[in-house]
Amino acid sequence: VSDNAALDGTTPARGILAFGAYVPRGRLALSEIGEVLDDGRSRRGERPVASYDEDTTTLAVEACRNLFESVSRPDLDAVVFSTPSPAYLEKSNAAVLHSALHLPDGVAAYDFLGSGRSSVGSLALSLRSEVTTLVASSDIRNGLPGSADEMDGADAATAFLVGTGDPLVVPRGFAAVSREYLDKWRLPGEPVTRSWEDRFGDDASINVADEAIHRLLKSVGLQPSDVDWLVVGGVRARTAGRIRALIPEAKAPSGPSDIVGAAGSAQLGLDLIRVLEAASPSERILCLSVSDGADAILLETTDAVSRLARRTCLDEQASDGTQRVPYAAYLSWRGMLQRDPPRRPDPARPSAPAARRSEHWKFGLVGSQCTACDQRFLPPQRVCLDCGAADVMVPNSFADVPARVATFTIDYLAYSPSPPVIAAIVDFEGGGRLPCELTDVDPGSLRVGQPVTMTFRRLYTAGGIHNYFWKARPDERH
Ligand SMILES: [Zn+2]
Repeated sequence: VSDNAALDGTTPARGILAFGAYVPRGRLALSEIGEVLDDGRSRRGERPVASYDEDTTTLAVEACRNLFESVSRPDLDAVVFSTPSPAYLEKSNAAVLHSALHLPDGVAAYDFLGSGRSSVGSLALSLRSEVTTLVASSDIRNGLPGSADEMDGADAATAFLVGTGDPLVVPRGFAAVSREYLDKWRLPGEPVTRSWEDRFGDDASINVADEAIHRLLKSVGLQPSDVDWLVVGGVRARTAGRIRALIPEAKAPSGPSDIVGAAGSAQLGLDLIRVLEAASPSERILCLSVSDGADAILLETTDAVSRLARRTCLDEQASDGTQRVPYAAYLSWRGMLQRDPPRRPDPARPSAPAARRSEHWKFGLVGSQCTACDQRFLPPQRVCLDCGAADVMVPNSFADVPARVATFTIDYLAYSPSPPVIAAIVDFEGGGRLPCELTDVDPGSLRVGQPVTMTFRRLYTAGGIHNYFWKARPDERH
């Protein structure tokens, strides 16, 4: 365990070097739930909703890409991915993340799956280790129609880069309390979380939270009044409010007003990001996650936070365009409303050998560029279609290259879990052309010349295999 004692600039310190987040563009207006269910309950605000072509893995990919916008690619030792709702069991989801981010083969990729506590666990262990780690967490929250989980949940992902260098925050202490009690649970394969009576969960949560806070402060010789910010994750809003009362003088993160709901495993990270974007140097942040026990991490901001571009990545994403998701569409995406399937043959099962042969293309959107004439190709070519030179291509990643819609068609007949399919040809800045699907787009507002960004999505699932590939989505930032 590194002590990070030297913050005087002579010894490189270890801590969180950079962060990223992703909130899906889809928004469900909560008032629509009441209109459809006619249950007399009033609901206000909007919750972020992962689209039909997003899963916890693709959300994490986007959060990591958001992180890489703020920092040059580091020499990573490992990428760790945690979620309570993994796209695959047995097979690694971190491997998909690793490949989609086009990370070097030598970077280890590990999953921390299943429980809500994995998220804070992966962050705490990374902060206490010596390896340079990309720590990604994501969650998609489900609930039965009309339930509090449906209304109070949110879908999101976060990413933190932990390593040695010029950190935004350094760890000052850790405490954990592990306890076995039944608050929230879900059997494998079940779509929604079950929970015991609210009051029981509240009492158990507050009890372990109090214990973790005391254990942490005692170990570092500080008083509650020495804590500037308190971040609480893993519990419902009302419970978090009661936990906040344990350190009433600590400031709470505030977020974009349009985003409501708790993003489960990603919530602690989202709130920590909100604090980092608002904090001053030399402030103490107590991160507390309550889930089958409690974990407390004390972080201290460095001068580096004042150099943050104040880019407020969450606000930026919300202002980058959101899309209204009708309640019926949301229910059918979540398997709560079974609709008549498209009258087309089911898509074929993706081929494992083909995916392996073209891994960098399929997962990393890596095309090729001819070294003789500079022409760029997607998918990668061996022989240049322009100058005819053979075997002189170099790999060229297009994932982060801005593009524009050259032409598009709206297809109501093609197979899609959420028709219509919008097929487009996009032209990349600097050359390269790709026929692909568009997503997060309102067909009515689409135009030729529309600026787009590539995004990693799940095209469909067939034969128990997720077919991941890249789509383009509107992006007005360029
Ligand atoms: Zn050429």
